[in-house]
Amino acid sequence: MKILVIGSGGREHAIIRRLAADSPAPDLHAAPGNPGIAALATCHEVTVGDLDAQVELARRLEVDLVVVGPEAPLVAGLADRLSVAGIPAFGPTAAAAMLEGSKTFAKEVMASAGVPTAASVTTTDEDTLVAGLDRVNPLGDVPFVVKADGLAAGKGVVVTTDREAALAHGRAVIVAGGSVVLEEYLDGPEVSLFCVCDGQRVVPLAPAQDFKRALDGDKGPNTGGMGAYSPLPWAPEDLVDEVVRTVAQPTVDEMARRGTPFAGILYCGLALTARGVRVVEFNARFGDPETQVVLERLASPFGELLLAAARGDLREAEAPRWNDDAAVAVVVASAGYPAEARLGDWITGIEDAETAGAHVLHAGTALREDGTLVSSGGRVLAVVGTGEDLQAAREVAMAGVERIVLQGSLHRTDIALVAARNEGVEGGQNHEH
Ligand code: AMP
Repeated sequence: MKILVIGSGGREHAIIRRLAADSPAPDLHAAPGNPGIAALATCHEVTVGDLDAQVELARRLEVDLVVVGPEAPLVAGLADRLSVAGIPAFGPTAAAAMLEGSKTFAKEVMASAGVPTAASVTTTDEDTLVAGLDRVNPLGDVPFVVKADGLAAGKGVVVTTDREAALAHGRAVIVAGGSVVLEEYLDGPEVSLFCVCDGQRVVPLAPAQDFKRALDGDKGPNTGGMGAYSPLPWAPEDLVDEVVRTVAQPTVDEMARRGTPFAGILYCGLALTARGVRVVEFNARFGDPETQVVLERLASPFGELLLAAARGDLREAEAPRWNDDAAVAVVVASAGYPAEARLGDWITGIEDAETAGAHVLHAGTALREDGTLVSSGGRVLAVVGTGEDLQAAREVAMAGVERIVLQGSLHRTDIALVAARNEGVEGGQNHEH
């Protein structure tokens, strides 16, 4: 099987690493890929945003499957174009990717499908914004949640008890010409569940938890994600079944009813509140860095699962099986991330980290002409450890991180820490805002 993966991040490196482990190993291509991916796949210099060139490349390579990593090309219609060209694509059409592309649209679909989520108002008007802030949080005793409606690479959301900061973010979104979404605050641990969908059917992968805030103790600004782990020893045993039954399947049914069936990854971002499971957000693709831990645990064939979804019948693929390992990913980010990431710093120590038992996935890295590896993005590497439990996996990941040398780099030291401590403890809470 010949597979082209579109994208250049840690998520795409994880996807390619897992595809390379299938038997027989597929012929792997990436566009544009990154220096880590280049060890496993042929990289082609085509930017993610150049849809014409991506389709042309897929046609020229005569691939059996294209896997689209990031959201932007999906929302721009890359899967639609590939399908017109007769090339199976794993990823939703532009119309279906609106579940991620517009939070207001996602809310409307959830309302029609009866899917539980935070109450919200959407507006482009400052007076409504001010009135909304007072109404959602009259006592000012719980955080305000203020979101930009469109795609913002995980950075369009502000969760704060500071009314002025909430108002300033909302104003900035309106001034930039966007709609702002005010939401009820959802308390409780968060879970990410990737559901593979074929337009009608839903096959869940293993749940994971990611860490959005920049600093230890869930302090600092929201980021694209600073780390993740799987499995979740504290989660209720029937969680995955419940999410498929109350969230993913009703959403997929509603999208099909509307004539815009959803095929690809329906990423359910969930809060386990005291009142039950609530959807925080949908994404229309694999999440980064959760993919880095979830795929590490997948024991059944991956390529055939994605191909079956792309062809529209998941019954053709073997149901996912999982190994007994736990996996922890710790992101190493550039100095200044997320506000203003400094780029172009040397990266060394990757081999040492791998000798220590971790594996290192590249995200924002570039190779200079002289052969040195430098940082080229906010999130630079994901260092992944596996082990018999979260504690063991965490130790491997942290031992790897300690061997990475990148000037001024940032990483969290508490990824999976509370969950590892409470491992085996019934109902242990692992995450607080
Ligand atoms: P989103 O881009 O909608 O996923 O939001 C990014 C992050 O902000 C989420 O992963 C949560 O940690 C946080 N967040 C978003 N919406 C809410 C909410 N209604 N209540 C509490 N936290 C939220």
